[in-house]
Amino acid sequence: KVRVRFAPSPTGGLHLGGVRTVLFNYLFAKQHNGDFVLRIEDTDQTRYVPGAEEYIYECLRWCGLNPDESPEVGGPFAPYRQSERKANYRQYAEKLVASGHAYYAFDTPEELEEMRTRLKTPENPSPQYNHAVREKMRNSLTLPDAEVQELLAKNTPHVIRINMPANVDLTFVDMVRGEVTFNTSLVDDKVLLKADGMPTYHLAVVVDDYQMQISHAFRGEEWLPSAPVHLLLWKYLGWEEQMPQWAHLPLILKPDGNGKLSKRDGDRLGFPVYAMNWTDPKSGELTKGFREIGFLPEAFINMLAMLGWNDGTGQEIFSLQELVEKFSIERVHKAGAKFDFEKAKWFNHQYILHKDNETLAALFQPVLAEKNIQSDLSYITKVTALVKDRCYFVNDIWEHGFFFFERPAAYDEAAVLPKWNDDKAAFFNAWSEQLAGLTTATDVELEAAFKALATERNLKMGDVQLPFRIMLTGGKFGPPVFNIVATLGVEETRTRIANGLA
Ligand code: GLU
Repeated sequence: KVRVRFAPSPTGGLHLGGVRTVLFNYLFAKQHNGDFVLRIEDTDQTRYVPGAEEYIYECLRWCGLNPDESPEVGGPFAPYRQSERKANYRQYAEKLVASGHAYYAFDTPEELEEMRTRLKTPENPSPQYNHAVREKMRNSLTLPDAEVQELLAKNTPHVIRINMPANVDLTFVDMVRGEVTFNTSLVDDKVLLKADGMPTYHLAVVVDDYQMQISHAFRGEEWLPSAPVHLLLWKYLGWEEQMPQWAHLPLILKPDGNGKLSKRDGDRLGFPVYAMNWTDPKSGELTKGFREIGFLPEAFINMLAMLGWNDGTGQEIFSLQELVEKFSIERVHKAGAKFDFEKAKWFNHQYILHKDNETLAALFQPVLAEKNIQSDLSYITKVTALVKDRCYFVNDIWEHGFFFFERPAAYDEAAVLPKWNDDKAAFFNAWSEQLAGLTTATDVELEAAFKALATERNLKMGDVQLPFRIMLTGGKFGPPVFNIVATLGVEETRTRIANGLA
C-alpha cells in the first residue's frame, strides 16, 4: 500500500516549498488510493517554536490537503509527534552500537571544540568528526571496554554516533533524479542519539518511516546530502527491503534563478513566501502569507503544482481532482523552479474570474469588517460581480469598488468644473426628481431614461455622463455608470447627486 508522509519540524511558518512538498505527497497518495501521514518532527527541542505546529494544521486545512493520519486526527501508528515517541528510539541506537555500526562518544563540548580548533585549516574550516578523527577522541571505539562500561555506569553524558565507513560509494535510485551516488568520506559520524536521550532527525526519520510503513518519501532537495546516512541506517538496522522510495523535489528558486527562494527575498521584492501570515513569537515580526494577501487556496495549489511539474500538454489550470489524476513523479523536473510572482497572480486572477460571486463576496466581507464597514452579503455579491474581472486578489475588490461602500470624500473637479454650467445643474436636479420614481429600474432602463432626459434638454450624453460618474465615485473610474446606479440604489444615488451639486 502506498503510504507517504510530510514530516515538518515545527520551527516557524510554512514556506512555499514546504507546501509544495505537502502537495506532491498528497497527489501521489490520493492517486494510488494511499495514505497521507503528517508527522511532527520535534526532536530538536532547542528549535521548537510555539504556534508552529498549529500553523501547519491550519495551513493544510486552508489548502484542503488534509492528512489521513496526524497528531490531530490520530491513526493506527500514533503518536505522530516524535517527542512523544522518545522512548522508542534508544533501543535502535543501542542495536547499532551492538553491531558495531554506531558507538558511544563521551567527548565534552570543550574536547570537541579543541579538536575543531586543532584541525582547522583554510581548506578545512569546519573539521568533521569522522573516521580520520575519531581515533583520537574519547569514544567506545578507542577506549578500553572496561572504561566504557564504567563511564556508562556512572551516567557520564554521551551521545551515540553512526560509524560512517571511510571511502565507500553508496548508490540509490531517486524517483526524480535517477541514480545518485555519494562517497561516505563526505559524511561525518552523525549523532544519532543525543545526551538527553532524544534521537536526532536522522535516527528518528528512519525509525518512524519504518514503523509507520512509509512506502515513498518526498522531500526537498536540501535533504539529499542526508540520504547516505539514512540509506546506511536502513541497511544497518536490517530493514533495507522496506526502505521507502525517495524523491528529492527540486528547489524553488529566486525569480532571477540565483539560488533558493528565501523569506528575505519576499520581503525585498514585496511578495509573500509563506502560505499564511506568521508572527514570530520571539521578535513579534510578522511575515505576510499568500492567504492574507488574498490568494484563493485552489489558485495557490494550482500555482504550486506548476513549480517543478507539468503534464506536457501546455495546460496550466488544474483543479485538485485533476492534479490527483494527472500528476506523475516522472514529469517532475530535476532543475530548480523559478518563482514568478506575476505568474502566481495570473493564476489567482483566473480562479477569481471563474469563482462564484457569492463565495468571493463572503471572503471579502472580513476585509470590509476590518475597515469597520458592515454590508450585507447580497450587496457585496453585486459589487463583486461588477469589479472582479479587474481583480488579482479578493482584496482588490476594495481598490476597484470602494465607492460602493463609502461616499466620495473628494471629487476629480478638474474633469468637470471647466465645462460646468447651470443647464447641467438643472439637468441633475431634474434627473434626481425622476429617479425618485424609478426605484425598481434596471441599468438598461436607467440609461434609457437618462438619455431621454438629456435629449429633451438638448444635452449630449457625453456632457452629463462623466459628471454623473464623478458624483457617484469621485473619479473617472469604475464599472459602467448605470450598473453603479442599479447597485447603489436610487436613494443613495440621489444623496450622491445632492452632495455633488452642493
Ligand atoms: N523534519 C524534516 C524537515 O523539517 C523532514 C525531512 C524529510 O522529509 O525527511 O523537513
